[in-house]
Amino acid sequence: MSRAFNFSAGPGALPEPVLRQAQQEMLEWRDARASVMEISHRDKAFIALAESAEASLREILAIPSNYKVLFLQGGATAQFALLPMNLAAPDQAADYVLTGAWSEKAAKEAETLCTAKVAASSADANFTTVPDVAGWTLSEGAAYLHVTPNETIHGVEFYELPERSAPVIADVSSTILSRPLDVSKYGVLYAGAQKNIGPSGITVMIVREDLLERKPRALPQILSYKAHAENQSMLNTPPTFGWYVAALVFDWVKAQGGLAAIGERNRRKAEKLYAAIDGSGGFYTNQVDPRYRSWMNVPFVLPDEKLDAPFLKGAEAAGMLGLKGHRAVGGMRASIYNATGEAAVDVLIEYMREFQRKNG
Ligand SMILES: *Cc1c(COP(=O)(O)O)cnc(C)c1O
Repeated sequence: MSRAFNFSAGPGALPEPVLRQAQQEMLEWRDARASVMEISHRDKAFIALAESAEASLREILAIPSNYKVLFLQGGATAQFALLPMNLAAPDQAADYVLTGAWSEKAAKEAETLCTAKVAASSADANFTTVPDVAGWTLSEGAAYLHVTPNETIHGVEFYELPERSAPVIADVSSTILSRPLDVSKYGVLYAGAQKNIGPSGITVMIVREDLLERKPRALPQILSYKAHAENQSMLNTPPTFGWYVAALVFDWVKAQGGLAAIGERNRRKAEKLYAAIDGSGGFYTNQVDPRYRSWMNVPFVLPDEKLDAPFLKGAEAAGMLGLKGHRAVGGMRASIYNATGEAAVDVLIEYMREFQRKNG
């Protein structure tokens, strides 16, 4: 058996050179005479690793100096609660733009902690588009405006923002490091690692420093962004192995030529796949407004649900994994994160053509 072409939505594919390096260093990391998992997070060597991971991420995303980078636990879902806890008073408005399942979840969680408002929603369109930014309803005195630039389940991606608003918080779990991003437009960017950064269990947050000074309520240290920032994300034992793999992935991103090169490749991958779907004469369909089609997650349906099982079975036999669509949308979903290369997309397109020839 060999490694498959991996289209998993998350945890998703990791770059093979990263896995190989981790494998090679599994028993003895550098000169630690132990695995990186087996040494203290306070060890000088580990602290150097943590610092270099942050420096790499700052370089890759050109993160301005007035932003802190945090490596936390709890996934993006923990942030759905921690963001309002840290940034919004209980009676303060926080605006949410609903463009899919993840933004809905984020807003729902905030409802219990502040006055969460729906600034705009494309629910009526089954989350196949993004409400025109000119029509978003922004609340007076809102703590922040929350957006989800890439909806992993619905396959909708967008970067439009109002010219003026409260600080923008963006859940970039499934789009971070997939293309260049202007950090300075956001107050907070956050991402669970398991799509484009590393293994699950670590969450990257990029937080504008002034937002750390907000004190909307008393919080235990472990829930406070400020406390984590003051302790270099080592208030308690961090997920050291995930941090280590993230550092390797950041090095890999740099070696690929950074986000400009990676973005170009991701654009090409996505364009090919959408072209194959659109060019199938209606056999495969993707309902998303072409202006907002995701480069990372490409959902598509077959003409008859009865074809789903044979499609997946054949795909697996041909060496492709993770194509089953999310139950909320049905059909298929090809997640084509950074580590799922152009060759994988070519193999998928070829398989789709072949399957259509036999079943169309
Ligand atoms: C995967 C994902 C999440 C959930 O992440 P967890 O780490 O499982 O909490 C949230 N938002 C988006 C956009 C995602 O893709």
